[in-house]
Amino acid sequence: MDGVTSTWTEPANTPLALLLLGQGTDPASERGVDCPGDLPAPSDPDLVARATAAKAALGDRVFVLGHHYQRDEVIQFADVTGDSFKLAREAAAKPDAEFIVFCGVHFMAESADILTSAAQQVILPDLAAGCSMADMAVLGQVETAWEQFTDLGIAGDVVPVTYMNSSADIKGFVGRNGGVVCTSSNAERALRWAYEQGQKVFFLPDQHLGRNTAVLEMGFDLDDCVLYDPHKPQGGLTAEQLRDAKMILWRGHCSVHGRFTIDSVREVRERVPGVNVLVHPECRHEVVRAADYVGSTEYIIKALDAAPAGSAWAVGTELNLVRRLALAHPDKQIMFLDRTVCYCSTMNRIDLPHLVWALEELVAGRVPNQITVDEDTAKYARVALDQMLALP
Ligand code: SF4
Repeated sequence: MDGVTSTWTEPANTPLALLLLGQGTDPASERGVDCPGDLPAPSDPDLVARATAAKAALGDRVFVLGHHYQRDEVIQFADVTGDSFKLAREAAAKPDAEFIVFCGVHFMAESADILTSAAQQVILPDLAAGCSMADMAVLGQVETAWEQFTDLGIAGDVVPVTYMNSSADIKGFVGRNGGVVCTSSNAERALRWAYEQGQKVFFLPDQHLGRNTAVLEMGFDLDDCVLYDPHKPQGGLTAEQLRDAKMILWRGHCSVHGRFTIDSVREVRERVPGVNVLVHPECRHEVVRAADYVGSTEYIIKALDAAPAGSAWAVGTELNLVRRLALAHPDKQIMFLDRTVCYCSTMNRIDLPHLVWALEELVAGRVPNQITVDEDTAKYARVALDQMLALP
């Protein structure tokens, strides 16, 4: 906007700016492995030109997806940006694109592989780009919990619901057991459907989205929810607690959104009178309760688009997105809810050198870092995804 200077203030740096996530050597988990490629140096001055040239050489054969939380240096090459579900559907709507380069994290690339045709290959530029939340629910742990529900005689009453931010294995488990996938936009509808099928919901893997939706959207009491800790015998719960609960929440959370605290909300309200606090439902319950507005990334984007000039907004979601929104709306005072930096470290592993490497490998006729989901898992994961698409 002419003549208007952005009011954006960069949060202070912190030793935890990039949480040490996504490390490890298990290719079957969200932790992934180190990138095997011979990457260009980050200091290479030709990175932008190389990415541009490689993308042009591939033409319509490649479709680059950029998640909202990605770095700007990567987003500039995205053919489409969005949240994980929107991106997977966009990829499926481009059947002529042989190569889907997913600039996101591992579970998102899995979802794209599930929803795209067999002729399309999904590539994650850095295999170490996992998701700490998805990693908090491992199939073996979830199956153990289900066996416990069966032994207690309650499994028949329980409907599993998993957040999109889960591995294909967990989506497959949910599809096999009559459940549904949800996103942060449709969690309430998914829960209402689930409670028509059974008396209890087993919500995976994000305790905060499950609790916030149950209490704030469905009118449950906090006491209706119990927290199942997979690292404790029987989830750390008594048989009575499991029998009485309406909502069994898996003990998982997002390491990025979990960092916002009630103090962040108090502090910004004192500092900026009249500020609107807008947060993602992956934030802790007390933070969401203290906020003025809560919603998915798409909701946050629309809310800021529609906000009047001159209004002030403190936004509790990933920093790359908040900064981009602030710079796109210089007539509004948009700030990060926390005083310190808070990126999704695993998402940030996909930088320009990794993107250049992946695109140049494709030009050379090699398919790097392909993400594939086995047929059986994909079949049942699709059942749970289709159930989500069929929600009333
Ligand atoms: S922001 Fe949180 S839920 Fe999203 S990919 Fe990063 S760690 Fe996972």
